[in-house]
Amino acid sequence: MFKNILIRFGELSLKGKNKMNFVNILAQNIRKICNVEYKDMIIQIDRIFIPFSAENINNLNYVFGISSFSPVIKIDSDLSTIETKLLSIDLDKYSSFKINCRRKWKEFPMNSMELNQHLGNLILTNKKNLKVKVKDADIEVNVEIHADFAYIFWEKIKGLGGLPVNSSGKVLHLLSGGIDSPVAALEMIKRGVKVNFLSFISPPHTDETTIKKIKMIVNELTKYQIESRLFLFNYTDLMNYIGLTSNQAYKIVLMRRSFYRIADNIAKKFQCLGISNGENLGQVASQTLEAMNTIHSQTTLPIYQPLLTNDKIETINKSEKFNLFQISTIKACETCEIFAPNHPATKPNNEVAIQLENELDMLKELEKKSLDENVELCYFNNKGNNKY
Ligand code: ATP
Ligand code: MG
Repeated sequence: MFKNILIRFGELSLKGKNKMNFVNILAQNIRKICNVEYKDMIIQIDRIFIPFSAENINNLNYVFGISSFSPVIKIDSDLSTIETKLLSIDLDKYSSFKINCRRKWKEFPMNSMELNQHLGNLILTNKKNLKVKVKDADIEVNVEIHADFAYIFWEKIKGLGGLPVNSSGKVLHLLSGGIDSPVAALEMIKRGVKVNFLSFISPPHTDETTIKKIKMIVNELTKYQIESRLFLFNYTDLMNYIGLTSNQAYKIVLMRRSFYRIADNIAKKFQCLGISNGENLGQVASQTLEAMNTIHSQTTLPIYQPLLTNDKIETINKSEKFNLFQISTIKACETCEIFAPNHPATKPNNEVAIQLENELDMLKELEKKSLDENVELCYFNNKGNNKY
């Protein structure tokens, strides 16, 4: 019965003169995520139409930048066709209804109000068990009249909101196999950002399960952003070297400072405009204001922390909602967990960190060497043929 899906944009409508750029990016994302061809799409300033299919309805749940969408019946815009179609809709399971007409084509012989009344009466006469209810009706049937065709629809499915992916530049995201950083990446994607991923692994302490888990997370997130790059950084040599520090309480801080120097290097090489992460204020020793101050000083790029002020429960709810939780909770060794000292410094400072780094005189050289030799770049797409 349905011919098309009508897609509405919501927030994009705030974008003024740039709006059509956003709409075109959104159209491109819909095309790639739903596998539709341009010739089958109708792209307008305030909505996009694509062919109806159950698969397309499902795939639209992976497209950011959409406020809602509706399966629509498309018919000729003449009164008798509209009447016939309206009466053919199965309304038996409802007891109240409302008709909302929008006459976009002003030459249609009735205005919206007259059409509401006319079509409402038509249903009342033909479906005796139905009543009109202006507020909270069981079903609201929408009729839209255009010059060449009319639309009828009644279902409105909520979209993901946010902005179309690829409309806001690119970041490098620090991804672990935990719960937080995958959700943080999704938050960046939601605001239109293209996310590249960097994950530090430390074989043989971290094993194949750790890598598989990271790749499963990237695979899941790629459904929303179409293509992804993952930098897998073998951190074992550096971890062992930093482990020699004379102040064990600073181990994690030193490691994280090193993470950010490396991230800074990769991000700049790949034109990323910032570094994002899953940090959450006060959650662990390395996420106090003092620790973040000491750690973040190692990059000149802006750092984005979408989860900074979340409660853990909000993050877990999101992780579950977006099918990440069952991946994040697979048991696997994490680089940071292996390395954590019993009593980490909760209020570290820059001077001490610099002094300890100076003691480790081969540190920067080893980082440079690892950047050259220990990074594997993996590509992902949303077609589901990624290997892991
Ligand atoms: P997550 O659940 O995201 O792992 P967490 O609560 O375990 O977070 P930490 O282990 O302190 O917190 O990590 C803080 C942030 O540092 C992570 O959110 C992530 O962005 C980054 N990070 C931690 N471990 C790694 C890693 N092995 N590779 C890349 N980034 C990492
Ligand atoms: Mg972690």
